[in-house]
Amino acid sequence: MSLPIQLISTDFDGTFFAEFENLPVPEKIQTLIGQLQARGAKWVINTGRDMSSLMETLARARISVQPDYLVLVEREIHCHDGSWYVGVEEWNQACARDHKALFARVRVDLPGLMAWVNARFQATLYEDAYSPFCLIAGNNGDADAIHDFLNDYCLGVPNLTVVRNDVYARFSHAAYNKGTALAEIARRLKITPDHIFAAGDHLNDLPMLSREFAHWLVAPENAVISVKESVRRQNGFVSSLPHAHGVAQGLELHLANAGLAVSNVIHPPA
Ligand SMILES: [Mg+2]
Repeated sequence: MSLPIQLISTDFDGTFFAEFENLPVPEKIQTLIGQLQARGAKWVINTGRDMSSLMETLARARISVQPDYLVLVEREIHCHDGSWYVGVEEWNQACARDHKALFARVRVDLPGLMAWVNARFQATLYEDAYSPFCLIAGNNGDADAIHDFLNDYCLGVPNLTVVRNDVYARFSHAAYNKGTALAEIARRLKITPDHIFAAGDHLNDLPMLSREFAHWLVAPENAVISVKESVRRQNGFVSSLPHAHGVAQGLELHLANAGLAVSNVIHPPA
C-alpha cells in the first residue's frame, strides 16, 4: 500500500465530535476517513471516554464510518474484529497491573490531597474504576491551580502523572497515554510514524501530538493554546476551522503535501 497516511488517530470530543453543533460530525471528515479506510488506512478514536460512553455517543451520532481501533480512558486498546470491539489483552492486562501497583502506593496520600483541594476550591472529587483520585474543577482557572499542585505531588511518586482535559483530571501511569497506546497500535500494524496522522485539541492529546509517534499533526481552531503551540513547533498544521472541519482540512492538506490529491483518495485511479 502506498498511502502516505496509513494510520489516523483522532481525539473524540472537540476534535472529531462537537456535541453542541448542529452536525456533531461533519460529512466531509466521514467521507475522507471512509475513503482512506477503503484504501487500507486504519482509523483510531483515541479518547478519554470509557467504552459505554463512547459507544452510546457514536450510535446517537449515526456516523457512516467505524473506527478500526479504540483507545479508551487514554490507555486501553480495543480492536474492531468485524462485529465488535475486542480488548488487546496483552497491553490492557499490563496496563491494569501497572496501574493497580501504582495506585496502591498513592492511596495512603489521598486524604491529604483531598483536604488540600477542599480547603481551597469548590470541586468534585471522586474515585472511579480508572483512578483513585478524579477531579471536576469548578472552572479552568481552578483546574490549572489544582493541576499544578497535583503535578508537584507526582514528582515524589515514580511513574505517576496527571491526565488533564478541560476541568477534568485524574491520575495515570506515565507509561500509558494516548501516545504510547498509538505507538502500540502502530507496532502491531507495522506502521512507522512517517505514515501516522494525529489530531487533538486538549492537554490529554499532547502525548500523541508528538513526532515521536506521528509525523502528520493537526490541531483544530478550538484547541487550547499549548496544543496549538506544540503542533506548530513540530511543523504540524493548526487550522482556522473548528472541530472536525479543521481536522478534515488538515488531513487534506497533509495528503496534498504528500503528493496525493484528495480527488485521488475519493476517486482512486482505475
Ligand atoms: Mg478533546
